[in-house]
Amino acid sequence: MIIIKTPEEIEIIREGGRHLATVLYAVREIIKPGVSTKDLDMQAEKLIRDMGDTPAFLNYRPEGAMTPFPAALCVSVNDEVVHGIPKKNRILKEGDIVSIDLGIKHKGLFTDMALTAPVGKVIDKNLKLLQATEAALQAGIEAARGGNTIGDIGYAIENFVHSQGRYGIVEVLSGHGVGRAIHEDPYIPNFGKKGKGAKLMPGMVVALEPMVNLGTKNVTIDDDEWTFRTADRKSSAHFEHTILITEGEAEILTKV
Ligand code: MG
Repeated sequence: MIIIKTPEEIEIIREGGRHLATVLYAVREIIKPGVSTKDLDMQAEKLIRDMGDTPAFLNYRPEGAMTPFPAALCVSVNDEVVHGIPKKNRILKEGDIVSIDLGIKHKGLFTDMALTAPVGKVIDKNLKLLQATEAALQAGIEAARGGNTIGDIGYAIENFVHSQGRYGIVEVLSGHGVGRAIHEDPYIPNFGKKGKGAKLMPGMVVALEPMVNLGTKNVTIDDDEWTFRTADRKSSAHFEHTILITEGEAEILTKV
């Protein structure tokens, strides 16, 4: 069931989105060669708790999952698509690209955001992948106007990505409603047909999150049961915002 948020809920989610963006951008600041993925996670969790909020992914166990997610921050490096588990011995090095994905609970309500950052200087095709993925998210947000449909968002993202090169768009993971839970209806695929799917209504809060690969769209899951990785081990990028559907242009809620 798609939930339309009340004005009071929207105000809290807006405040939470501000907190989340503040934390995620602060974590991005410390990304550099020599830092471990666990360092990023510890910094994220500290900043979240300093603001009086709760990490939403820590101990999160979706239906069917064997083990709960063991950290606050998902950290996915290079060919890791999403849900990478932070580790003390996973040290970032010059040329890596690193996706950081974070959810928080603020006054009982959830927001979700992700970005991918270069570690030092990265090769051109990886930099272009990051730019294309971030711009694809923007294209999705522009299509997320009240009265449009879920399919319009997917179409906009897919069409934009394919205009940028021969990239693979991950299909087995998607955007989603967010607010009272970290994952709510509807699912929002990063591909689709214009005019198809549920209608976007003012008051809906959704997370859009294209995952774009340098090669194949296909992914595998590691033995840790969490880490999604590209099947051909080529690089992957991920950008996400939580947005509010309005009568017109959507409002980005995960911003400082
Ligand atoms: Mg999400």
